[in-house]
Amino acid sequence: MINTFNNDKAHISVKWHIQLVTKRGLSIHHLILVKHESTGVGHYISILSDGRYICDCCMPSNLGIPCRHFFRAWIDVQNLPFHISLIRPRWYQDPGAAVELAPAECRTHELGPQEFKLPMRTIRSAFASNPLDSTSHDATPPPRTQTLPARDVFHNVQSAIPPLIAGIQTQEQVTELIQSLETLQCVVRFPLQQIN
Ligand SMILES: [Zn+2]
Repeated sequence: MINTFNNDKAHISVKWHIQLVTKRGLSIHHLILVKHESTGVGHYISILSDGRYICDCCMPSNLGIPCRHFFRAWIDVQNLPFHISLIRPRWYQDPGAAVELAPAECRTHELGPQEFKLPMRTIRSAFASNPLDSTSHDATPPPRTQTLPARDVFHNVQSAIPPLIAGIQTQEQVTELIQSLETLQCVVRFPLQQIN
């Protein structure tokens, strides 16, 4: 089941939130409460000492996309950094984009390297958007045959679909694309049989 994050009331407890952060040796620089005035729903955001953040809605750590609570804080909190690496690389149109060259920005100006300093290997990994995931910070990439969680499979494949359907307009094109994908699926699943 995929969490669509439509329910703004869903969150982890602040106690569990802080435990998750501190158990991983991370340092909280600010703890911000973002509250929706009409519903009264509140979310805690930990701003870490290195500029990354964790929200108790868990959207950034799960999807790799900054949540509405972060952007609400970003509008009001002076010098709160946003860097493109807070969006997980799987969402980029060009996954090989040199995001480490892009400066971080707060709402009013570009931040210097002293104000947002993440190691390059962190910026180029999912670790920037999910500080709780220490596995993606390894310098050595995981083996290609490693089994992935179903959620990761789903989101990685979803991000690959838009370029494939660009320009598709007719039923004939849709049928051809589906047939091509089915052929490709056979090759991926049964490579030896294809060779033989
Ligand atoms: Zn959030």
